[in-house]
Amino acid sequence: MDQPDLNNMGPEEIEALQKQNCVFCHISDGKVPAKKVYEDDICIGLLDINPASAGHILLMPREHHTVMFQVPDSILEHLYIIAKGLSKAQLKALQTKGTTIFAANGTAAGQRAPHFMLHVIPRAPDDKVGIYIPSRALPESEAKKIIEAISEGMGKKKTSNLGTGIKKEHKKVEEKVEREKEKVVDAEIVEEKEEVEEGAVEEEGSELDRITELLSGKKDGGSK
Ligand SMILES: [Zn+2]
Repeated sequence: MDQPDLNNMGPEEIEALQKQNCVFCHISDGKVPAKKVYEDDICIGLLDINPASAGHILLMPREHHTVMFQVPDSILEHLYIIAKGLSKAQLKALQTKGTTIFAANGTAAGQRAPHFMLHVIPRAPDDKVGIYIPSRALPESEAKKIIEAISEGMGKKKTSNLGTGIKKEHKKVEEKVEREKEKVVDAEIVEEKEEVEEGAVEEEGSELDRITELLSGKKDGGSK
């Protein structure tokens, strides 16, 4: 069989060829069996056949993308929300003590599959799962250069709708926190009032009596 000549192929043809040779695309299409733990229209979660720890999940988009920056924002957003759910399920159902979630972009980062995925790994103390992050010194001048370069890189993405969904989620969370806060404040007021009332029984004629009266709207204090 002729080897395909990549130099004479357009980006769409190359993508089709990658898809054709990608085992994860075949899993997505149901042509290759896999140990699925979760699936929906956008993504699939599989048990890694050679896991870092029991319950190690590979969470991948159904669409073929090689590295993270090629994945559309909406899909990435969905993947991270599902990763959050899987991580929570691991903690609860497998009684793991923690989870590590990471993506390897490029072979330099240890990427092995040509199909982008998130790893969701259950963790336990001393489990010997080696994700070693060294701790080095960073000279001031170098830090300054890096900050400038990255800020410039991010500035070029101003037209992107990056984060609109996240903002929506944040707003929902903020609203929920506000509602919870109100409940707490209400509960505190009730508690305070109860405490005051209890105290008033024990210490008749005290400061607490006056507070109780104020709270109950009686001004003259002649309720005894
Ligand atoms: Zn693929």
